[in-house]
Order: sequence, then C-alpha cells, then structure tokens
Amino acid sequence: MAKIPHRLYLTEDQMPTAWYNLRADMKEKPDPMLNPATGKPCVEEDLYPVFCKKLAHQELDNDTRFVDIPGAVLDMYKNYRPSPLCRAYNLEKALDTPARIYYKFEGNNTSGSHKLNSAIAQAYYAREQGLNGVTTETGAGQWGTALSEACAYFGLPLTVFMVKASYQQKPFRKAIMHTFGAEVIASPSDTTDAGRKLLAEDPANPGSLGCAISEAVERAVKGDNVRYVLGSVLNQVLLHQSIIGLESAQAMELLGEYPDVVVGCAGGGSNLGGLIAPFARDKILGKADPRLVAVEPASCPSLTRGRYAYDFCDTGKITPMARMYTLGCTFTPSPIHAGGLRYHGMAPILSKLYHDGYMEAESVTQTNVFDAATLFARQESILPAPESAHAIWGAIKEALRCKEEGRSETILFGLTGTGFFDMTAYESYMAGTMQDYVPTDAELHKSMDKLPKIPGIQE
Ligand SMILES: *Cc1c(COP(=O)(O)O)cnc(C)c1O
Repeated sequence: MAKIPHRLYLTEDQMPTAWYNLRADMKEKPDPMLNPATGKPCVEEDLYPVFCKKLAHQELDNDTRFVDIPGAVLDMYKNYRPSPLCRAYNLEKALDTPARIYYKFEGNNTSGSHKLNSAIAQAYYAREQGLNGVTTETGAGQWGTALSEACAYFGLPLTVFMVKASYQQKPFRKAIMHTFGAEVIASPSDTTDAGRKLLAEDPANPGSLGCAISEAVERAVKGDNVRYVLGSVLNQVLLHQSIIGLESAQAMELLGEYPDVVVGCAGGGSNLGGLIAPFARDKILGKADPRLVAVEPASCPSLTRGRYAYDFCDTGKITPMARMYTLGCTFTPSPIHAGGLRYHGMAPILSKLYHDGYMEAESVTQTNVFDAATLFARQESILPAPESAHAIWGAIKEALRCKEEGRSETILFGLTGTGFFDMTAYESYMAGTMQDYVPTDAELHKSMDKLPKIPGIQE
C-alpha cells in the first residue's frame, strides 16, 4: 500500500452535499425539548420566536437521516472546505507509539475554528427568511468572528455583544469582526436595560457571558424581525457540524483506515457531535465498535460531574429546556481558566449517548492541556487553540496506552482550531504562573440545586 500522506484533502466533488442527522439512527431519541411556559414538549411553532423556521424544524426533526446542504451554503463551504485529514507522523514519533494518529483540522479559515460550519448555515436561513438581522454574544471571540464572516457573506446585519474584559484584552478579535462589518458592543453596555442595570450598580463591571447573552437576547426580542443565534449545544448546530465527521469518515475510507477510538474536546458539544456522528451511527447499528471519547476541562466538568436534567440551553433562559448533563445554567466557571469550553451544559444528543453508554468522558486540568498543546505545536507545526488541545491531550493519552499495551490502534481526533488569540494563556503557561482549578462539590451543588423545577418531571 502506498504511504499515507501527511495531509489528505478530499476534492470539492467528493465533499458531502447533505448533513447527517444522527438522531434518525438513535434507538432511543434524546428527551424532547420542553416549552418553559407550559412544561410540555415543544412543537415547531413554539420555537419560531427564537429560531428561523427552517432551523426550528431541524431542531425538532428526529427522523430525517440526511438534510441537503443548500447550494449557497455549499458554495461558501468551498472557500475553506474540504478540510484536511492529517496524519500526525511527527507526534507519533515523539511519543514512540505504535498507534496511528489522525486529526481533522478545522482551523483553516479566518475565524480559526469549526464554528464557521454552523454560522454559515444559520446566517443563510436567517437571510432566506428575510430577517433584518441577528444578535449574538461572544466570550473568547471565535463564535463572534465566525458569525461575522458568515453574515458578511450573506449581507445580514449582525450585532455582537462581547464580554467587556475580552473586548479590552483581545482588541484584534474586535477588529476582525469590524472588518467583516459586524457591530461589536462591549458588554455590559448602555444600549440595553440589562446592561444599564449592571452599570448603574458598578460602572467598572468587566462583564460575563451571562450578561452578554442577556443583552443580545434583549436586543433581538425588542428588535424588528431580529433573532438571537447560538453557536453550540443545539441539535441544529450538531447537524451542521456533521460535515466534519462525514468528511473524516470518507477520507479514512480512502486510506483504508477506520478509527478504534475517536477523541474530541467538548464545550457545548458541537464539534464532537459532528465528528463522531458517522462513527456513532456505525456503533449504534452494530457495524463497528469504535470508542468515542469526550474530553472536558476539570474546571467545567458537565459530563463527568454534572446532573442529567432539564435545563436552559442559554444563561438568558429564552431557549427551550433540554435534558442534558449540566452544572446548572447559573454556573460560572473559574475566571483563571484560560481556554474556552466554559459552557454549563452538554448537547442533548451527546448527553443521551453518554447516558446510554455509547460515549466515554474524561476531564483534564489546564496545565496538562498546555503540556499537550506545546508538544503538539512543536511536532506538528500548528498552534492549537486551548480548547482543541483538550482533544490533543486525550489522543496522546490513548497513544501512550497503545504503547504500553503494544497495540497499533488507529486514533482520530478533532483539531478544532488555532490559538493565535490565546497567547496570554500560552505565556502564563510558559511563565509557570498558570493555575489549575477544580471546583468543589459544594460549588457545583450551588448551581445544580437551582435547576428549573418542572411539575411532574423534575421537582
Ligand atoms: C467553541 C470552540 C470549541 C468548543 O465548542 P463545541 O461546541 O464543544 O465544539 C472547541 N474548539 C474551538 C477552537 C472553539 O472555538
């Protein structure tokens, strides 16, 4: 057999033309979303004030196996897709492992992450429905950047509420969003009731994700034909991200490979849900038995220490409630945590797979994550995002296990993005000042005890 190339790019013609909806093949579906006003399962119309009609349909559709990717979305995908499947030859050598390590690299676009895959779809459907604009929040900035790119392409006005601390610390993120024509507002701001209230209490408030979400939601709800959009967790977002897994499966097949283990980082679960989709299908249908591993930060451990319960998908409490592993939507991860992945819950689809034993989960502290990030950067010449480095850590752990057991397994992991805007975190790691933080049980209980009460379902 010919030597496997360092990077395999599918051709444009080989690119998938439909997203894959794993729910269609799940024997047990995720529990239904509930309308918080009635406590009853949501119907599509319940979601129209929150999501575009097509996206509301995708959100609740447990049956359609393949959803055609609209032509305009495919056209923009082709600006940066298919993304390469890479063989980590150098990392394998450095680890002296018999394992074959592959990674799917999603950082080859200006936003620097996989988030663009769903941003394009969401902007497209918003434009198609004739919305006057969308709003969102951004913490670290990847989602805001991705959505700015997508909205620029489709000519859709966008307002991004950016946590004030990040706004000040990451001026170049803001500049990129401006370049793509987005309005970027430091949150808390004096443009909304929610922001003004906080500023009246403390004019120096550095902001939080929760506050930015409240402002973005308020702007959307009070706006004329404007919607708030979310970049992870939702079923629709995992559907869009399935392009990652479909391309990976296709490329591996061309190489005559199939993963024994698939590893991904998990914040809200969108990249991991997309990456594992075709492999989870094979596992559910009994065609193959790959291990599926989620890696989450020890500072925000929703799968490994959270509760499987109904909760809001957003801190602003406007989305319907979903049953998922959650730390409670009032949970605030430690500010000393450098990477992203600070989301309180986990996508309902992944939560269900984990609950039913199809998926495993691990948590890791951030200094260990940066050990892995640095080793990877030096071997593979890609500067990984701290979020992505959680997956690298997981893949290295598996590769070292293979070495110990003398097994030449095939490992596939998702490299979700690049870390050029995270150099303060890299610096603190190199200076030895980076601290690990693991919340106590008491801290987690504080927010988990405040989960919403739903008569007859969750008291
Ligand atoms: C947002 C982000 C993540 C985490 O989000 P998921 O929805 O869990 O995929 C991971 N990596 C990068 C680079 C990100 O920007």
